[in-house]
Amino acid sequence: MTNLISDDHRVLIDGVRDYARGELLPLDRQWDKDESSCCARLAQLHEMGLMGLRVPEALGGLECPMPVYAHIIRELSYASPSVAVTIGVHSMVCEAVKMFAQPAVREALLRTLLAPDNLAAFAISEPDAGSDPGSAKTRAERAEGGWKLSGNKFWVTNGLTGRWFVVLARDRESSPRKDLNMFLLDARQDAIERRSIHGKMGIRGSETAEMRLDGAFVPADHLLGHPGDGLKIALSALDGGRIGIASQAIGIAQACVDLMVSYAKERRQFNRPIADFQAIQWMIADSQTELDASQLLIDRAALLKESGVRFTREASIAKLYASEAANRIAYRAVQIHGGTGFVNECRVEQLYRDARVTTIYEGTSEIQRLVIAREVLK
Ligand SMILES: Cc1cc2nc3c(=O)[nH]c(=O)nc-3n(C[C@H](O)[C@H](O)[C@H](O)COP(=O)(O)OP(=O)(O)OC[C@H]3O[C@@H](n4cnc5c(N)ncnc54)[C@H](O)[C@@H]3O)c2cc1C
Repeated sequence: MTNLISDDHRVLIDGVRDYARGELLPLDRQWDKDESSCCARLAQLHEMGLMGLRVPEALGGLECPMPVYAHIIRELSYASPSVAVTIGVHSMVCEAVKMFAQPAVREALLRTLLAPDNLAAFAISEPDAGSDPGSAKTRAERAEGGWKLSGNKFWVTNGLTGRWFVVLARDRESSPRKDLNMFLLDARQDAIERRSIHGKMGIRGSETAEMRLDGAFVPADHLLGHPGDGLKIALSALDGGRIGIASQAIGIAQACVDLMVSYAKERRQFNRPIADFQAIQWMIADSQTELDASQLLIDRAALLKESGVRFTREASIAKLYASEAANRIAYRAVQIHGGTGFVNECRVEQLYRDARVTTIYEGTSEIQRLVIAREVLK
């Protein structure tokens, strides 16, 4: 699949890989230990252009084609799954603005999202609306010059440091089938309270927050798409986001494979390296096979997205397969490390926990199967 990636993009991916492994990896271990936010590193990520990966060059972004973007998320995730999802969610919002913002404000908003201190977040889920975002209860009421939003959002990645929030809310004055709208909310106002959700199993350097909106104002031109387009926009953004989460999963999986291989060569039992045992070799072989299959599924979905073809089914297949494979691979990585892998001094212990969320967010595995089956049965 080398022809997917130009020489210039290869240089970019290699640069991200070196930076991530050299600088982010040790930090990520610390973020995991003390549950501190990787957003402390945002200024550097901005400097490297990583907050504008999918923004047009004309506006100052890197305008990476989707397959290149996916490889960059994979490299970031190898070293820090928390940084990968922070950038992934920000990029997903940039993409939604690029596709759905009103033409008069689109360029200005994209330029703003590229500037420092303008991290973006995606606030769809609510305490009672997870797999079924269409049941969102957050209200959007018309107000002088725009809208006022009230309600509770939950599980918001980038939710503490973020300034811009894509928010799904319901306009009760519209007919029931056309009442969900998507807004771009500026969180620099008093009508918003945010609280960190602590105690996560993995990706502990990634911010997760709950938000309470109490009449938060959104100007009329910050409505994305048309009234009633809210769910369509959410699902479209998630299609692209799922390629990002699949890439995050295989970054974790690649780190696991590398660690299991080096440990298997180094650890000796019965007077030989454990890599000599067929049981260990099979675990390595299965892991590499699943990793490569995942990458090919991601490349396929990313290429389709890049060429403007519908890719809902392929994105769900890539996300389902890669996230479940990453969990199997992380399990094997711990198994090959024996007792050593059970202790948090050993990185595979963290990777095992980090992998877990990839089958849950941006649609659980059950929801991916539902999407795939619906598309196949059409
Ligand atoms: C760390 C983290 C970060 C997140 N970041 C964000 C974010 O930035 N923005 C955002 O909006 N959300 C975010 N989420 C929320 C995430 O998308 C939801 O957790 C996910 O969609 C599942 O919803 P739920 O947790 O409410 O589970 P539920 O929807 O309650 O599901 C519970 C179980 O029921 C199953 N289930 C539900 N419906 C069906 C069905 N129809 N058929 C079969 N099984 C079904 C599910 O698969 C699951 O096993 C995040 C979540 C986590 C954990």
